[in-house]
Amino acid sequence: MSIAQNGPEGKPLSDERLAAIQARCNQATPGPWGWRGNGSVHQLWLNSLSVSGGMIVMTFARWGMQQGQPVFNVDGILHKAEEFLIRPQSHNPWLIVGVDHPDARFMEEARSDVPDLLAEVRRLRIDLVERDAAIALADDMLGVLWSKSRRMADDGEAYLHQCIECDQWERWDGSLNRPGHTPDCLIGLARTTLARLRALQAEEVGQP
Ligand SMILES: [Zn+2]
Repeated sequence: MSIAQNGPEGKPLSDERLAAIQARCNQATPGPWGWRGNGSVHQLWLNSLSVSGGMIVMTFARWGMQQGQPVFNVDGILHKAEEFLIRPQSHNPWLIVGVDHPDARFMEEARSDVPDLLAEVRRLRIDLVERDAAIALADDMLGVLWSKSRRMADDGEAYLHQCIECDQWERWDGSLNRPGHTPDCLIGLARTTLARLRALQAEEVGQP
């Protein structure tokens, strides 16, 4: 019954959709999950492998003479899905539109959630590549502008540059801790913005 809810590929996932996916993950039995079974007694179950000794997420039971039904875990006790069926019309026993259990919902929505999350990862990666290219270009352009500035050795590794836009002197020691441009100078603004973006890039690279 689930339909992918995000827009066409390339559109960001909404905060509401991300929160809904996160909630489904939080409410489901902890993963990873794995199918396990015992053929000699005709048993098959989905196990939570994060619990030592394993814990059944879902198994199966008879349903009438011919059919079977899933069985879900609620606080360590197995309950047949019959108990959680969503029947929109109480007088219509033939109409079932869902199973009201966190693990059942997680499985159902995973088919839409995973492709949407993958599309979001692709989109964000493209954004990052474009951002990095923009930073590199802006850096080069500022480098050209900066090479035209009047420059004086200050102390040690630091230099004083006279901004070709606002005529203020900037003390450059690699940290841009004393920009010294007028507040509305676009070159000063570009230099502080770029320094901030560079720091952000460095943080990302440092992440595990
Ligand atoms: Zn300036």
